[in-house]
Amino acid sequence: MALIVQKYGGTSVGTVERIQAVARRVKATVEAGNSVVVVVSAMGKTTDGLVKLAADITNQPSRREMDMLLSTGEQVSIALLTMALHAQNQEAISLTGAQVGIVTEAEHTRARILKIKTDRLQRHLSEGKVIVVAGFQGISQTSDLEITTLGRGGSDTSAVALAAALGAEKCEIYTDVPGILTTDPRLVPEAQLMEEITSDEMLELASLGAKVLHPRAVEIARNYGVTLVVRSSWTDEPGTRVISPRPQPRPLEGLELAHPVDAVEFDTDQVKVALLRIPDRPGIAARLFGELATQALNVDLIIQSIHEGNTNDIAFTMVKANLARAEAVAAAIAPALRSNPTDTSQAEVMVDQRMAKISIAGAGMIGRPGVAAHMFSSLAAAGINIQLISTSEVKVSCTIDVEDCDRAIAVLCDAFEVTSSPMPQGSAPTASLRVPEVRGAALDLKQARVAIRHVPDRPGMAAKIFQLLATHGVSVDMIIQSQRCRLVNGQATRDIAFTVAQGDAQTAKAVVEAAAAELGFGDVAVDEEIAKVSVVGTGMIYAPGVAARMFKALSQQGINLQMIATSEIKISCVVAETEGVTALRAVHNAFGLAGLERTVVPA
Ligand code: ASP
Ligand code: MG
Repeated sequence: MALIVQKYGGTSVGTVERIQAVARRVKATVEAGNSVVVVVSAMGKTTDGLVKLAADITNQPSRREMDMLLSTGEQVSIALLTMALHAQNQEAISLTGAQVGIVTEAEHTRARILKIKTDRLQRHLSEGKVIVVAGFQGISQTSDLEITTLGRGGSDTSAVALAAALGAEKCEIYTDVPGILTTDPRLVPEAQLMEEITSDEMLELASLGAKVLHPRAVEIARNYGVTLVVRSSWTDEPGTRVISPRPQPRPLEGLELAHPVDAVEFDTDQVKVALLRIPDRPGIAARLFGELATQALNVDLIIQSIHEGNTNDIAFTMVKANLARAEAVAAAIAPALRSNPTDTSQAEVMVDQRMAKISIAGAGMIGRPGVAAHMFSSLAAAGINIQLISTSEVKVSCTIDVEDCDRAIAVLCDAFEVTSSPMPQGSAPTASLRVPEVRGAALDLKQARVAIRHVPDRPGMAAKIFQLLATHGVSVDMIIQSQRCRLVNGQATRDIAFTVAQGDAQTAKAVVEAAAAELGFGDVAVDEEIAKVSVVGTGMIYAPGVAARMFKALSQQGINLQMIATSEIKISCVVAETEGVTALRAVHNAFGLAGLERTVVPA
């Protein structure tokens, strides 16, 4: 007899009829010979309604009282669903997070799960009961047993954590769309259903704002190897499977907190090529990477930060073996890229053969502002200077001097308690690997960019900045430190730009500005009118030309790229907010993701 955890979202339990339909599906699963644990969200838009009620009373509600309030939504749906099961002659019992023993840290409104007690669950399962658990809530370990919630959208996380704790055969997430789509169907009606996606890809997409799954749920599924399926509550279609590699064994204690970083990776077989002072207008990146792709030259990191005046720098890394050809491509293009015919500050090509790339990777870093800062400060403490920085949601990569690489590895393994041996990258893909270059695309309109000019180019600066932000609870999304190195008062400086949630932008600016004088930065600028468009796919690691295709699609729409940052499986571009949706459509089309099926998303 298999154990299955099923989670039903708000729309799936939005009315009495829908609750009855869910009960029928649960009962059918039991009749097919399974034990079932059901996790439910609050009915329909209940949680939003409760948030609004609180807002009508105060604009600064106590976080403890918010948890007290919001946790009631799920309590309604577990009781009603259990009654519906009883009415269908199915034995069932409802339990709150506290009754189960979903133990969390004492962080109200954003608690992480520490452990889940399974004895009571096992007892009811052995009695043949369906257990209906309130999603999104837990109980703190403190003596006061406080009710906590996991953060909005958190019942996915409850469900996957329960599946991990119980060793369930699978966790099914029932929702109002047929599964995971190639992009947001509300913005791009041609979005198509995927049959499967890897958990790494899903993590990137979920944290980029693809709303079907809570990123922390994907993180748990990946870490514990939970089989995860996202499917429609209204049909019997199989939906989308989220596949995870076989995980390293890990304890269930400290479920969500154990290790924010699970690997340190490095690559000493790379070189860096930078084009300096190229014009800041649409089509330049498309042309450069288009030419590299034509010559089948695969690039790894691509970094373009904020422009200065009307020029920009683009840097990329690639395997050493391709350097001569890449340099030739860059040199051939550079003269044609002057800002204007009379411009004397000609574009210039710079090559660095003495670099290494070092990365920390791990799903646990999502939403934990201190992780990148900890990496930077560990490197700084060892006197290691960081040249370029590029981050994705689950990885932070830096380029450093190759001489420093061994030390950097040791320092980072130590700092993050990574015991598995660090992984050299760049190994050839296995033949059986047949993964699409681009699996999906996402648009994030909720970010703002903060740019700090003229940060002194010496160890410890990035560490200070991001540590400060972490201390103030500002979670940084994408971080880019550019190639451009300028002398200011005889001192080498670089620009650092990063994106944060719009709501955090002013805090971030204030925090950085307060430190500017002491640390010797230039001015700090905030731009809220940005959009981030990204493509994600494991296959892009091995396929030259993916970036080129993305840049070309954008340039054909006349869209200027304000920033570029890549990881192995993701390329993100920052563009003007007004161009966001056009950009998403263009990119989605360019990778052949669009199809004829139309998915209707219920309001
Ligand atoms: N009811 C909570 C919310 O709306 C949790 C959830 O639905 O996942 O955020
Ligand atoms: Mg949800």
